[in-house]
Amino acid sequence: MIGAGIGGLTSAALLAKRGYQVKVFEQSMVPGGCASTFRRRGFTFDVGATQVAGLEPGGIHHQIFSELDLELPTAEHCDPACAVFLPGEVTPVNVWRDPNRWQTERQRQFPGSEPFWQKLNDLFSHSWQFQTRQPVLPPRNVWDSWQLTRALRPDTLLTVPYTFSTVGQLLKGYGLYKNQRLKTFLDLQLKLYSQVGADETALLYAATALGVSQAPQGLFHLQGSMQVLSNALVKAIKRFDGQVFLGHCVEQIQLENNCPRFVRIRQQKTDETWLETADHVVANVTVQNLTQLLGQQTPQGYQRRVDKLMPSSGAFVVYLGVEQAAIPEYCPPHLQFLYDYDGPIGENNSLFVSVSRPEDGRAPNGKATIVASSFTDVQAWQQCNNYEALKAEYEREAIAKLNQFFNLDPRHIIHAESATPRTFQHYTARHQGMVGGIGQRLSTFGPFGFATRTPIPKLWLVGDCVHPGEGTAGVSYAALTAVRQIEAMENR
Ligand SMILES: Cc1cc2nc3c(=O)[nH]c(=O)nc-3n(C[C@H](O)[C@H](O)[C@H](O)COP(=O)(O)OP(=O)(O)OC[C@H]3O[C@@H](n4cnc5c(N)ncnc54)[C@H](O)[C@@H]3O)c2cc1C
Repeated sequence: MIGAGIGGLTSAALLAKRGYQVKVFEQSMVPGGCASTFRRRGFTFDVGATQVAGLEPGGIHHQIFSELDLELPTAEHCDPACAVFLPGEVTPVNVWRDPNRWQTERQRQFPGSEPFWQKLNDLFSHSWQFQTRQPVLPPRNVWDSWQLTRALRPDTLLTVPYTFSTVGQLLKGYGLYKNQRLKTFLDLQLKLYSQVGADETALLYAATALGVSQAPQGLFHLQGSMQVLSNALVKAIKRFDGQVFLGHCVEQIQLENNCPRFVRIRQQKTDETWLETADHVVANVTVQNLTQLLGQQTPQGYQRRVDKLMPSSGAFVVYLGVEQAAIPEYCPPHLQFLYDYDGPIGENNSLFVSVSRPEDGRAPNGKATIVASSFTDVQAWQQCNNYEALKAEYEREAIAKLNQFFNLDPRHIIHAESATPRTFQHYTARHQGMVGGIGQRLSTFGPFGFATRTPIPKLWLVGDCVHPGEGTAGVSYAALTAVRQIEAMENR
């Protein structure tokens, strides 16, 4: 197993439980990747992911934790899942968990849009049912195709005509495309889940991404920190006799007879390198990283596909440890701000913010954490002349924007620190510090995305670059798919 992100740990734990001998090599000293944490001055900061889907009964984390006989982490519902502030507005659009309350809210916020939302609901319901029957997408052999076929039902076919539609096209179909508030709200929310706005996001992906916020699904805020997820998975791996090696980087995958046979490991501390033999290699890395690990051995068609991908976003994240006085009363745990309507949604004009709750394990008594992220172009950080100055400027700007909602008087800020694509590249080894997987455009979502089954037999890709995309729930689903594929191959 290359990498101990949620994707790698989930695959490793499930394989170990099924009796496979598993070794996980993680280059960082902490497991969890983009869903890990770090501590400063009594505060615990979630590095990237802050909210979790799939903890409800039947949800993917719930399912996997039950299979591994792990206690489900303590968590609260995020309600609202997000409070979205559009430019110049002081009252947010609250994405409530209760479907009726959310319906009332959206009818009040976006009059005349209900038929559009009803269509999204219908698509979500059919797609969700389909997903619970565990299809393998995109299929790459007969077994995958069989799994896909047996997940189909007559209602799944109702989604097929929308396979090539975007959210923007559906808005046009309902005469809502020029509704600036609605379009902007969708752009903002979709960018979080799919990397791209309404014009580019595949409708079927969007229906799922937007639908999971409501009961009986919903988003959760973990007690303690995001680290509890990976810590529990590491515990399961060890309980089933698997091994996790932190501070060990995989530098190369070597093929023999077109199958992975060896991986070259480097112990970060001692610089010692050696070859480990493997029957299967599961790579919990970005698809770009995978081709780097294979080098010249990468099949040409695969390399061409990777080269043609549109660049993914990076994240600029500010981590603040503050006095509770900085937090307004009744502050929702997750907020999204757009600061102006000009230009595409992305760099510098929006922030996604997560705030700790009293006694949720992230801050000492009377204090709180604020984690705010924005999208950023990774190239700008790779090529900049004065990295420290650029980082300081971004941090200043982000704090100034946050100060419009929070009370960030300097006396209230106890700790401030930022992460850039370079930081993510260093700590998670992700290619150029890109995060959040591959944009869910028509050409790269679901049936047209990258598969867990690579063109090299016994080499598997898990994580947010493969179906069903990003988020801890998405990568867990990909991990389960890869494990089922390995099991099917071994039991043939
Ligand atoms: C700012 C931000 C906010 C987010 N918010 C949310 C959210 O609220 N909710 C949500 O569900 N998701 C969120 N996400 C997305 C989510 O964090 C990721 O999609 C998910 O955690 C990715 O998991 P992964 O297993 O695919 O990869 P990663 O987390 O990238 O893990 C890969 C691991 O592999 C290791 N590795 C890589 N290469 C090597 C190598 N060669 N040798 C050894 N080890 C290696 C890395 O160090 C890393 O630990 C957010 C992401 C970011 C960046």
